[in-house]
Amino acid sequence: QTDFGRHGYGKYTNGVGRVPVGIGNRRKRIVVTGGAGFVGSHLVDKLIARGDDVIVIDNFFTGRKENVVHLFGNPRFELIRHDVVEPILLEVDQIYHLACPASPVHYKHNPVKTIKTNVMGTLNMLGLAKRIGARFLLTSTSEVYGDPLEHPQKETYWGHVNPIGVRSCYDEGKRVAETLTMDYHRGDGVEVRIARIFNTYGPRMCLDDGRVVSNFVAQAIRKQPMTVYGDGKQTRSFQYVSDLVYGLIALMEGEHIGPFNLGNPGEFTMLELAEVVKETIDPSATVEFKPNTADDPHKRKPDISKAKELLNWEPKISLKEGLPRMVDDFRNRILNEDEGRGS
Ligand code: NAD
Ligand code: UDP
Ligand code: UDP
Repeated sequence: QTDFGRHGYGKYTNGVGRVPVGIGNRRKRIVVTGGAGFVGSHLVDKLIARGDDVIVIDNFFTGRKENVVHLFGNPRFELIRHDVVEPILLEVDQIYHLACPASPVHYKHNPVKTIKTNVMGTLNMLGLAKRIGARFLLTSTSEVYGDPLEHPQKETYWGHVNPIGVRSCYDEGKRVAETLTMDYHRGDGVEVRIARIFNTYGPRMCLDDGRVVSNFVAQAIRKQPMTVYGDGKQTRSFQYVSDLVYGLIALMEGEHIGPFNLGNPGEFTMLELAEVVKETIDPSATVEFKPNTADDPHKRKPDISKAKELLNWEPKISLKEGLPRMVDDFRNRILNEDEGRGS
């Protein structure tokens, strides 16, 4: 038994029949779509460090070459500028499918493109997985639970989602992506895995992506008030990115399809988050209230019993430990930005 695909060896079917690839070479060949983004680039670092060959596919909509530039020149790393909405031919053992804008500001920017990415992008990656016998992992989201009527959320909860709202391109898009994933599994025998990721933060998040952690941290560093939307009593659970990366790899390598909630069960109101950012960065930081956005879920907290039991995984890094780890990265980038503007 080798690591190369379901059938025991890698192969391509370009008219010359099945050709074994890399026999005797037990390194895995892995595609990470969205690998130049925040989560993707941390995942790629871990896979490269483990000794795998990694191909990143990214169209740089929200990702940046800077996130993977330290890997340029590494013969086990390859970067392809490609939009997953278009088909692609590759030969690999595993596909981590992350490509999709994740911040509300980004995914609402061009909602139809967000849907195409979720539907056609996921379809293409599943078609690829089917053709080459690769294992496919979908990064779905806690947003499939919508504005939840069950708290905390278990994987068995079907969700409470507005199909015609401004968030629908993302949450309904991910719901279809999950459906496609299960149909390729049931219909075509593709080996699949589904992760439902809860709010994640860490170094390399886009500075101005509008997500709450990146906003508060950047605002506190720039000595601007932290913008709290609505009354600030809505809750989220914040997971440090390295915990997520361990979870994704445990899921890919394990025997269970999922879906699995991957998140940190620590639950905070936005006002409590602002307090932690204040303690971490600047005791004189202030908050400013702003009107909330439409369809904002009131609360969110994962029940992670299933991942604990079947993947032997749980997050290790609390918000108070994790926040300081992203501050240096944010400070440096904000400083560079200011210098770039000549200030
Ligand atoms: P990100 O925006 O930093 O990364 C997404 C990457 O996908 C970017 O590099 C972007 O350029 C790329 N991309 C977008 N559309 C593409 C397309 N059509 N073709 C090719 N590449 C494309 O976001 P992230 O936080 O790293 O999220 C990664 C994945 O995890 C996403 O699928 C997201 O839905 C999921 N997720 C993230 C969170 C979170 O809190 N970070 C929570 C739930 C789910
Ligand atoms: N696909 C791809 N790379 C591959 C195989 C398929 O991008 O190596 C795309 C293909 O172009 C199609 C999608 O994946 O749009 C679904 O493929 P599948 O074979 O399941 O469906 P079909 O091509 O029969 O519609
Ligand atoms: N939020 C906030 N201030 C900001 C950005 C976001 O209070 O500057 C709130 C937002 O209304 C939501 C929560 O923070 O209730 C999380 O928002 P985010 O965009 O980070 O992620 P979501 O979980 O909504 O996808």
